[in-house]
Amino acid sequence: MQPGWEAVIGLEVHVQLRTRTKLFCGCRNAYGAPPNSLTCPVCLGLPGALPVLNGEAVRQALAFGLAVGAEIQPVSTFYRKQYVYPDLPKGYQITQGPVAVVHGGALDLPGDAAVRGATGIFRAHLERAHLEEDAGKSLQGEGERWVDLNRAGVPLLEIVGAPDLRSPQEASDYLKVLHRLVVFLGICDGNLEEGSFRCDANVSVRPAGSAGFGTRVEVKNLNSFRFVKQALAFEIGRQSTLLDRGERVSQETRGWDAATGTTRSQRTKEAAMDYRFFPEPDLPPLRVDPAEVAAVQAGLPELPEARIHRFQEAHGLTEDEALTLMQSPSFADFFEALVQASGQARASANWMLGEVSRVLNERGLAITQLGVAPEALAGLIRLVDQGRLPLGAAREVVFPALLAGEGPAEAIVAQRGLEQVSDAAAIAPLVRQVLAAHPDVVAQIRAGRERLRGFLVGQVLKAGGGRLDPKGVNEALDRILPEFLAKS
Ligand SMILES: [Zn+2]
Repeated sequence: MQPGWEAVIGLEVHVQLRTRTKLFCGCRNAYGAPPNSLTCPVCLGLPGALPVLNGEAVRQALAFGLAVGAEIQPVSTFYRKQYVYPDLPKGYQITQGPVAVVHGGALDLPGDAAVRGATGIFRAHLERAHLEEDAGKSLQGEGERWVDLNRAGVPLLEIVGAPDLRSPQEASDYLKVLHRLVVFLGICDGNLEEGSFRCDANVSVRPAGSAGFGTRVEVKNLNSFRFVKQALAFEIGRQSTLLDRGERVSQETRGWDAATGTTRSQRTKEAAMDYRFFPEPDLPPLRVDPAEVAAVQAGLPELPEARIHRFQEAHGLTEDEALTLMQSPSFADFFEALVQASGQARASANWMLGEVSRVLNERGLAITQLGVAPEALAGLIRLVDQGRLPLGAAREVVFPALLAGEGPAEAIVAQRGLEQVSDAAAIAPLVRQVLAAHPDVVAQIRAGRERLRGFLVGQVLKAGGGRLDPKGVNEALDRILPEFLAKS
């Protein structure tokens, strides 16, 4: 951005709700089925077919509204938004009108100190969140065009943010917090590649410190957190450069082109569509029963930001560690079950962020596909904690054996003779043997080179084939070394 300007950003996010069926019919809400196999007269828009609102979609919208501290509107209405497009079979989309089921609310975000001049949490407000149906998908081939209507009628929650964000970094943080929230509420699968979480950005630039708004440009097609940051940085630069030159920013819709790293004009205001909104005559107003709101409130899970905070406070984790453990609800749940079963928070976090993540990445698996239960991994952690299994053998031998289904850690250790030797009577002869084999080192220690002690510990561990308890070796060395130092 050119100096002297300030960016004003508001995001609109379309969240595909995780219902069993579509918003107004009984067709399955699923991704990846054969084209046009999940359709019926309602979502195909055949004459005479009547929509019936999906109560589960309403409950998911309520869960979102309650989680962000919004007002739930007791009565909201549906409208028809009319436009002509091949993937819109009815010729209109059913969406909510001026009164949406979720009004207001906010997300707390880390402010971008580079633009705010101060660090600390700030509150990004939401204007509303409303229910609407998705359109189908147009697919293009060589000289041909197909339409897949499996997605037509899938429930969306459109979450409209206030223009409270001031930099691409804040926009990216907003999306990450929002994404985590809808995924942990269980109302969206969060799959960006499959289009379950889609973002459009409204961005304008104004003289720094002023309160008015500049001319707004809408940027579409931002389907990754990285693209949002890149597209906004490009657009803010483009607009501030135009204004610096004394030129005007035109109000338009622009598309992000990831290949060139630029935005391109798609539609100017002059060509803006007239959607001819009018109330949907086939659907009664949506009336929300206070008892249902209370039931949804009672069923809300611990919110992700609170959980991240708790991971840090209760388990002594860094923010980065807590965020990584919160990569998905099942990953976070596995971690909590592991802590519970092992009683070892630090070791549990190390295993999750270390060996478990490495194996999942290598094999392209989700934690639910690991094939090892938290209780089984906890057995391994306990053996290490009790000094019965060296950490190296736990990582290199026992964990792979657990993954291969060779039974509980305890049995694997016994079968393979891996049990760590911490028995002083077994360690002492090895210590004596190593000391006897290195009179030169003993002499140097006698002369004051205390640091060579570490070398001796290493030699003893090596002599023990990696099975000796390092703590026991140190104790034995403390006891036996003076004898050797006394001989001259
Ligand atoms: Zn249908």
